[in-house]
Amino acid sequence: MALIKKLEWIWVDGKLVRWDDANEHVLAHTLHYGLGAFEGIRGYKRSDGRSAIFRLNDHIQRLFDSCHICTIDVPFSQEAVKEACILVLRQNRLAEGYLRPIIYLGSGAMGLGSLENPVRTVVAAYEWGAYLGEEGLRRGIRAKVSSFKRGAVDSVMTKGKICGQYVNSILAKREAMKGGYDEAILLDRVGNVAEASGENVFIVRKGAVWTAPTSSSILAGITRESVIRIAHDLGYEVHERVFTRDELWCADEVFLTGTAAEITPVREVDDRRIGPGEPGPVTRRLQDAFFDTVKGAKPRYPEWLTFI
Ligand code: PMP
Repeated sequence: MALIKKLEWIWVDGKLVRWDDANEHVLAHTLHYGLGAFEGIRGYKRSDGRSAIFRLNDHIQRLFDSCHICTIDVPFSQEAVKEACILVLRQNRLAEGYLRPIIYLGSGAMGLGSLENPVRTVVAAYEWGAYLGEEGLRRGIRAKVSSFKRGAVDSVMTKGKICGQYVNSILAKREAMKGGYDEAILLDRVGNVAEASGENVFIVRKGAVWTAPTSSSILAGITRESVIRIAHDLGYEVHERVFTRDELWCADEVFLTGTAAEITPVREVDDRRIGPGEPGPVTRRLQDAFFDTVKGAKPRYPEWLTFI
């Protein structure tokens, strides 16, 4: 994966600091134990030249929900963190980029029961291209069902985007990449398809669109929700229902959704071709509508955009 290019400013606990000065002590609690929460948000340059952050309110709401799950009291309001996101893009003169807010516990006390550590609030931004590659976006990627399972809802706080929970996703992703695949798809404890390492999974069968419900072991993806709405508005039948690994193999089309991956078609799962082995018409139509929504001249869903 490409290294990120250094910019000028990062917002740390209420003020902008120089990129190289945004450092943390090696005894920061979250570094050791993983209790903390983060978001991934994209800002896009639109075809009229203006820039807008996609679904900023929803991402910041999820960030605060994740902190609530973690019993972390955020020392800033949601409004302040949203303003920080806008400021970081502006001050770095980034017309299009990826925002990474993170709330974590700094150094002070050690041990799992520590309640004294300072809560740190950081918003960084950087340039980030297509997460699964430009070619992946165009031609589709190859995925493998992982030997790692997505944890059950009573053991993993699946609705939180919580730092430590990503170990499982990373193990799955590394296993897939070492095997020569682009992405890992994780089953849940029962064996149904849950989600990919950092994306939600959709299938298309007989013209209808299927994705796992939020009551299953998935992160409630904001792109997932956007795609459901767009698909519905384009007249597709949408089912939020679980499906199995073999239903995935036999789907007419498969695609992944996520802030980083946007809408990435899947052309192969477990060495089995999906449909004709290239992105299908429904995926293409949803991709076009999605990119038009985030970048197009005419705002289709204005409530999803925060202009900067
Ligand atoms: N599942 C997981 C595990 C993720 O990390 C992500 C990325 N945040 C998603 C799904 C997709 O969520 P979103 O569309 O909100 O980025």
